[in-house]
Amino acid sequence: MTTDPDLPGLHIGGVPREGGGTEHYEVRDPATGRVVSSRPEADVRDVDDAVRAAHTSFADWSRTTPAERSTLLFRWAAELDTVAAELADIETLQAGKPIRLSSGFDVPGSIDNVAFFAGAARNLEGKSSAEYSPDHTSSIRREPIGVIGSIAPWNYPLQMAVWKILPAVAAGNTVVLKPAEITPLTSLMLADAATRAGIPAGVVNVITGSGASTGASLVRHPDVRMVSFTGSTPVGTQIAAAAAGKRLHLELGGKAPFVVFDDADLDAAINGAVAAALINTGQDCTAATRAYVQRSRYDEFVAGVAALMDTVILGALGAPATDQGPLVSRRQQQHVAGFVERARADGARVVRGGAIPGGELAEGYYYEPTLIVDADQRSEIVQQEVFGPVLVVLPFDDDAEAIALANDTPYGLAASAWTRDVYRAQTAAREIAAGCVWINDHIPIISEMPHGGYKASGYGKDMSTYSFEEYTVVKHVMSDITGIARKDWHRTVFGR
Ligand code: NAD
Repeated sequence: MTTDPDLPGLHIGGVPREGGGTEHYEVRDPATGRVVSSRPEADVRDVDDAVRAAHTSFADWSRTTPAERSTLLFRWAAELDTVAAELADIETLQAGKPIRLSSGFDVPGSIDNVAFFAGAARNLEGKSSAEYSPDHTSSIRREPIGVIGSIAPWNYPLQMAVWKILPAVAAGNTVVLKPAEITPLTSLMLADAATRAGIPAGVVNVITGSGASTGASLVRHPDVRMVSFTGSTPVGTQIAAAAAGKRLHLELGGKAPFVVFDDADLDAAINGAVAAALINTGQDCTAATRAYVQRSRYDEFVAGVAALMDTVILGALGAPATDQGPLVSRRQQQHVAGFVERARADGARVVRGGAIPGGELAEGYYYEPTLIVDADQRSEIVQQEVFGPVLVVLPFDDDAEAIALANDTPYGLAASAWTRDVYRAQTAAREIAAGCVWINDHIPIISEMPHGGYKASGYGKDMSTYSFEEYTVVKHVMSDITGIARKDWHRTVFGR
């Protein structure tokens, strides 16, 4: 067990070790800017070693029975349970999450997902075997693919690592994961726990380094059969080009609409909007970013959101009172501030926030909860992913307009509709082009149900048994049952 935040950056073949690169990656505490770890990144040889370890272990791991894999994955979940508090502390340290979020959501959600896939490993399904032609029996084999090269973002480091690794290994694949270089620590702890659980060496490998060097080497490696990527849409597009010819799974950016109809419970919608816009300081691909509110309730909604944002406490991550932590990096803070400045210049009005706080918070990467109105639907702040604690509110007049506005961005990851009318709710669920539509809520996820995008938000599913579609190949086995040398269909070649 390790609680040392300054871990070696690689875990290859079951063994932690240092990277051989000349560049160093740095992990900082986003609440203070202090460097907590600085390590050499993986070089091309390390990437090759990790892929080789995964490739070698695939031969045996892919032949284990589902029951054997399931037993080991349950042990892995149990190992994680024993270090849950340390995982939460380190997740808070590297990603800037209030401890309430990491200990109440990130860590238990991740462990539950490991346990879910431990059970699901024994439930790979396919079509039943049958005689679909009179002369043959057909059966389906669902087979693992091989070495999966997985690349994860920094916003939910542990959860994203689990979402990438677990369905893959439950289905009999082996994995090389590259976490985001600014938040690798809990992924390394996850791999460490896999070794303690008895998962064979080489099944789970972690390499750390920048996207442009370590990530790109992993994507291009000829023995990586599939690339599974979660991150931004622009990087996903680059990876899709670099991984041409490989199987690909892409979970990309989002710009979730939050549609409030005039019959909604407004108190619930206001609470829901603030929580769903500010969770993880807005660094959530499904965060509520664009609230469309029916004109008759618009002023009331804006006033309610502004008043509730005023109560949100920014502060030290370990303090029980802290509601919102910093952004993950100075770069992300500047990125968010830039969006808000350009929105102002475009004529939008900042009703709350819109600034970097000073005083005790100035050292960290904090940004105030921000509410924006009077933005144009076509403007950048409405169309593009900000990935910060920023909510834009716009009015609409009728249901058709609300759905059209909700669908009017390049993204399609998640959305919500707020109404007491069952017909409106079902119409919104059908008409909004997004991988998840919540009704009278926004954010909850659950291991049994899939997560994945439409449009520029990517394709494929994480979590749930649907994710096995991503990490398995379906093979048709067709067996002759006649034993006849001159088969009936040979007529097409041999004449009579
Ligand atoms: P990012 O795209 O900048 O980086 C993601 C990962 O890709 C990192 O590990 C990075 O090092 C790596 N990378 C960068 N360039 C690469 C390259 N050329 N080759 C290989 N790897 C490369 O994203 P981010 O800033 O870390 O994360 C935020 C983004 O992730 C947001 O857009 C968010 O919406 C998205 N996200 C999506 C989901 C989802 O499920 N759809 C979940 C979480 C985050």
